[in-house]
Amino acid sequence: MVRLRFAPSPTGFLHIGGLRTALFCWLYACKNDGKFIFRLEDTDQKRIFEEAENKFISMLEWSGIKIDEGPQFGGNYGPYRQSERLDIYAKYTKLLLEEGNAYICFCSSERLEKLRTDQRRKGETPRYDGFCRNLSKSEVSRRIESGEEYVVRMKTPEVPETIILNDLIRGNVSIDTSQSEDQVIVKSDGFPTYHLAVVIDDHLMKITHVVRGEEWIPSFPKHFLLYRYFGWDTPEFAHLPLILNSDRSKLSKRQGDVAVEDFRKNGYLPESLVNFVAMLGWSPQGNRELFTLPELIREFSFERVNKAGAVFDQEKLNWMNQQYIQKLKLNDLQQRLNPFIKKTPYEGKDHKNLKKIIEILQPRLVKLSEIEGRLSLFFENNLEPSSTEVLKVLREENSKKILSNFIKQLESANKLTRDNLGTLMKNIQNETKIKGKNLWIPIRFAITLDTEGPDLNLIVDFFGKEKCMHLAKSALKL
Ligand code: GLU
Repeated sequence: MVRLRFAPSPTGFLHIGGLRTALFCWLYACKNDGKFIFRLEDTDQKRIFEEAENKFISMLEWSGIKIDEGPQFGGNYGPYRQSERLDIYAKYTKLLLEEGNAYICFCSSERLEKLRTDQRRKGETPRYDGFCRNLSKSEVSRRIESGEEYVVRMKTPEVPETIILNDLIRGNVSIDTSQSEDQVIVKSDGFPTYHLAVVIDDHLMKITHVVRGEEWIPSFPKHFLLYRYFGWDTPEFAHLPLILNSDRSKLSKRQGDVAVEDFRKNGYLPESLVNFVAMLGWSPQGNRELFTLPELIREFSFERVNKAGAVFDQEKLNWMNQQYIQKLKLNDLQQRLNPFIKKTPYEGKDHKNLKKIIEILQPRLVKLSEIEGRLSLFFENNLEPSSTEVLKVLREENSKKILSNFIKQLESANKLTRDNLGTLMKNIQNETKIKGKNLWIPIRFAITLDTEGPDLNLIVDFFGKEKCMHLAKSALKL
């Protein structure tokens, strides 16, 4: 049975890259009737952010990703927080030390700093020089007993070797161990570093596929050596391509605007965000772009994930979000809009009309949050023009001509609906000799006082004759 894990460090929020890793793991697990495991890699005690675990989990749930095993979910391979597995790491560290695959290192940070400075000055890559590699057992015990601080380092082979990573996305990648140093695997605070913990946990949790960002490829030899020292088989690996900004710079983890939570706050639907994130590096067969979660599960494979960096195209995401909003049933849309409507003064007003208004707005909403700026049109009586452009257009001679004519037409019509708006506009065109955009824009601007918004037919139909007449008259006075 396949078992894949998403193993974030609780240093911040779930960002787009993390969501993609979790999604690919989950899709693959679902596709193969396997399990999706959430593991908290909280061994860096200095960088823990209290709320992170809950936030990660709630964002995954919001995205539709279901966790089978994890800290708040249980499972047979726990605990699933690394900080609760220290005894396990201690046991395996002891084994590495006993078998001579790791050693105790007492080097002070001052010595290491000086070493790095000297190496840099000589043009060498800074790396640990193995100073403590061959300390005698008795010296090590004596210094530990006297209370000296120490770390544990794993040994890299004395004679460099080439290690082959057989990656599901990249094929064979060879990496030379001459570039690796004797990595610290247990820090002076007794906590393991990522490298030791990840190997032990992936093995003990029976992870079959390790899926993570390509920034971890250089660490692969360390992990490979640890698997070898323990005598364990390596799982499969898939290193995902970078996610890039449109200028091809690396999408930053720290930038607030890549947090999944912010996409939710800004009014993106989980369906579209997940669909969009799936396409960051993965491409389905054919040209189709919109996929539901069950469809993604059916289609997904690592073979169709690219090696090349994937560009984060905000326009594309907006397009997808609009597509998904358009497809929502009205009741569903209204429910999803509620948190945004709550932020406006129109909460709880005019329930009957609200549904109708949402229906009018639905086709052009790109993000749910846009509702906040769109309701005033329907609830306020004396709106100001939204921009100087609106004002400028409405003050033009042509606009005045059209609006006066519009009022005249309305006076002789007994009502105004979407059905007679066309005829009425035709009459204005015949009488003013103005047509097309030049004819429609002044009317739209007068009715909505905005340069963009929902379909004019629908607004006019909703407002009716009296209100449109009033709006046209007010516009003439601007
Ligand atoms: N804790 C690592 C991170 O947050 C996980 C890397 C991995 O999946 O092995 O980047």
